[in-house]
Amino acid sequence: GGQIFNIGKSKAKLFDEKTDTRTSFKDVAGLEGAKEEVEEIVEFLRNPDKYTSLGGKIPKGALLVGPPGTGKTLLAKAVAGEAKVPFFSLSGSDFVEMFVGVGASRVRDLFKQAKDKSPAIIFIDEIDAIGRARGKNNFTGSNDERENTLNQLLTEMDGFGTNTNVIVLAATNRADVLDKALMRAGRFDRQIYVDLPDIRERKEIFEVHLRPIKTAETLDLDFLARQTPGFSGADIANVCNEAALIAARNEKKAVTKQDFLDAVDRIVGGLEKKNKIITPGEKETIAYHEAGHATTSWMLEHAAPLVKVTIVPRGQSLGAAWYLPEERLIVRPEQMLDEMCATMGGRAAEKVIFNKISTGALSDLEKVTKQARAMVTIYGLNDIIGNTTYYDSSGQDSYGFSKPYSEDTARKIDAEISKIIEEQYQRAIKVLTDNKDKLTTLAERLLEKEVIFKEDLEKIFGKRNFEKDVLALE
Ligand code: ADP
Repeated sequence: GGQIFNIGKSKAKLFDEKTDTRTSFKDVAGLEGAKEEVEEIVEFLRNPDKYTSLGGKIPKGALLVGPPGTGKTLLAKAVAGEAKVPFFSLSGSDFVEMFVGVGASRVRDLFKQAKDKSPAIIFIDEIDAIGRARGKNNFTGSNDERENTLNQLLTEMDGFGTNTNVIVLAATNRADVLDKALMRAGRFDRQIYVDLPDIRERKEIFEVHLRPIKTAETLDLDFLARQTPGFSGADIANVCNEAALIAARNEKKAVTKQDFLDAVDRIVGGLEKKNKIITPGEKETIAYHEAGHATTSWMLEHAAPLVKVTIVPRGQSLGAAWYLPEERLIVRPEQMLDEMCATMGGRAAEKVIFNKISTGALSDLEKVTKQARAMVTIYGLNDIIGNTTYYDSSGQDSYGFSKPYSEDTARKIDAEISKIIEEQYQRAIKVLTDNKDKLTTLAERLLEKEVIFKEDLEKIFGKRNFEKDVLALE
């Protein structure tokens, strides 16, 4: 209709207290860590003077990072709802306009509206659409406009005084492509991670979305959560809605368990097309793979202490074992070897349990190969090559064409690298064969809970003997 006449006018929507049924933290299931972090922002908005009176500066922005449908928008709305402040939202893709100057003027308008109604929340969804690093992929004309828009956004955020009381929340799935300027102090200097839900969180999300639904029987929510690995909160909301529609279509008076299962099947079908679903067989492999890392690192004296193991996919990775990063300035060879052994523990577990290996170890192999190469060619930690380094602190690995060693040495280096990796792989196989029952218990627990922490590991393994690995060069 009259849309064309509105170009240049802000599309920012204002949800004020009267017209919006406020979203609150009760509507956001799971996401405990993220909720805790935004709690502080709610405090700032409710009570700005308390924080500024001592000279402190209220943060201007935070970045919500995570896959689509995990509740980033919902969380931002809940912050506004909890703080009882207006919520202004725009999507990054709305900003990308072909008319010169429109994007920038929209940003100006949006900030002006928010400042007039402050305290307020501005939410920018898909910020990567405008916030990509400048000067990259500069092939299409619209990029200039995108850059203008981004510059205007930076200008607005820098222009906030200490008492502006507008906090900008932005969401993205791709924090890695964002212009570093956005992350500078006084802009989006906080990052809050919002991950796909684990099994317990999925159950809680079901609880939230079942509230308005008339069910025919008491549903087993644990069962539903188990049926939906890899589902986001939005997918689960979809399941609940779809189940109600299926029941209605069949003239039922209330929604049954079977309707939910049919709805899950339907959503899985859609997700499978997008390649987002892990099959039960794959899930088992991933569980043993991660349990392999966890078991080896638990058993090896010099491996880094483990804090969390998960088989909830995140980004490119299907599972992960998280270690407490230790700040080591000096690393001993036995530490490097134990770490490499733990890294090979993933593939070793697949071998020990299934007598089959998979491509799932790619990034592990990349990591150990680099480490082994570094031991041999950089740190002088290999007997055959000896106390020689091929590291050049002046050039950035500038050897390129001519290697700083002979063909003969090159062959020795290659042989030593394979030997180190193979030895650590065999060592991992031995550790896991000796502890096969514990490995199995751990993998089964992982399949059941999807995430386990150090305390759970202690229940299986008992206390770890060498928790404090003090590095001292006695
Ligand atoms: P994102 O912004 O991360 O893409 P949204 O916040 O738009 O995701 O989520 C879409 C919908 O999915 C929400 O409106 C809500 O109905 C549902 N949803 C997503 N995550 C959750 C959650 N953690 N708890 C409850 N509902 C959720």
